[in-house]
Amino acid sequence: MTLPIHPVAEIFPLMSDAELRELGADIKAHGQLEPIWTFQGAIVDGRNRYDACCIQEVEPRIRELPADTDLLAFVLGKNLHRRQLNESQRAIVAANIANLRSGQKKKTPANIGENTKGPPIGGPGISQSDAAKTMNVSERTVQRASKVVKNAPREVVEQVQAGSATVADAEAVAEEPKEVQKAAAEKVKKKAAKTLKEGVAQVKAEEVHPVEEPTTDWPVDALGIPIQDHAIEAFESIPKFDELAKLLRQVGKLYSELAELPGGEFLRRHGVSINSPNGWKSKGIQDALAAVQDCKPAYTVCPWTVNHLVHPEAQFTHDAECSLCKGKNWSRVLRKHEPAYSLLEKLKEVHGV
Ligand SMILES: [Zn+2]
Repeated sequence: MTLPIHPVAEIFPLMSDAELRELGADIKAHGQLEPIWTFQGAIVDGRNRYDACCIQEVEPRIRELPADTDLLAFVLGKNLHRRQLNESQRAIVAANIANLRSGQKKKTPANIGENTKGPPIGGPGISQSDAAKTMNVSERTVQRASKVVKNAPREVVEQVQAGSATVADAEAVAEEPKEVQKAAAEKVKKKAAKTLKEGVAQVKAEEVHPVEEPTTDWPVDALGIPIQDHAIEAFESIPKFDELAKLLRQVGKLYSELAELPGGEFLRRHGVSINSPNGWKSKGIQDALAAVQDCKPAYTVCPWTVNHLVHPEAQFTHDAECSLCKGKNWSRVLRKHEPAYSLLEKLKEVHGV
C-alpha cells in the first residue's frame, strides 16, 4: 500500500536516515503508539512513522480525520510540543505555512500565475504575519526564511530545517554557486563544518588543494586506544570496509539520481523506495551501508572487558559465548542503544586515553 502525502504534512521536516532507523527499531520493539493521521486518504501527520513502518515491514496503524478538521491547527498541535525548534527552524515552518496558504487560494483575476494548486487544508488560511506569530518569530525573519526556501538548494534548506544551520547563515552564502552551497551543506551535515559559511570556505580551499586520503595505518582504534597485537589483523580489513561503504554510497547516489529522472517514475513509490530528505533512496542499499558501517572493527579490546569495573559482581569470560567479541577480544561499532555502549567511557579511562 502507498499513501499520498498531504501538503500540510510537509511544513515540518522529515527525520534523518539515522533517526528514521531508530524510530523503526522503536516501533518494532514497542509497537506504533501514535497512529498515522490521514485526511481523504493522504497523510497529514506521521510521514516518519509511515516510512519507519514500511522499512520495518510493520503494518502501519492509520486513522482518518473527520471531514471538518482544521488540518493546519491539527498538524501544529501535534508537532509544536513534540519538537524543540530553534528560531530559524520555526521561521522555515512559518514560511511553509504561509506558502501553504497560497496553495489553497481560489484562482482570482488578481492572483493568476500564483500557485493555486493543492487540496484545501480545512479551516481559515494563515497570513504570513499570523504564521510568524504562531511560530513566535518576527515577520521579517519569515520573509527571509521564505527567500531561503525559494532560492537556496534543497540541501541548504534541509540543514536549516534540521537545526544545523541558521537562516542568516543560508543568506550569507546565497550568492555562492549552487554546487558550492550544496557541498557546504554536505559538510555541515557531516559535522565537518560548523556553519555553511565555514563549509563554503572549506570547499573553496579544497578546490585548490585536494585533501589527501587518510593514511592506511591505524595506530589507534575508534576510542584512541593503541591497536593491540591480537586485533591488528582484523583492523587491516578496515580499508576494504571503507571502500565498500564508499561504493555503496555511490550506488545509493546513482539510485537517487535515477529515481528523480522521468524514467524513474516507478521507483518513486513508498514500498519501492524511501522518500528521505535527500530524495528517494533504496532501502536495500541503505541497509547494506548501515550493516557495513556497523560491522567494521572499531575497538581494539572488547568493551565487556571493563564490565566488572562497572558491575563488580559480574563474571565474564571472552570466549565464543561473548556476544560482542565472540572470543576475539576486539569489537565492531556500538550504537547508543546497545547495552555495552555505556562501557566505552570506562574503557577509555582504563586504557588512559
Ligand atoms: Zn568479549
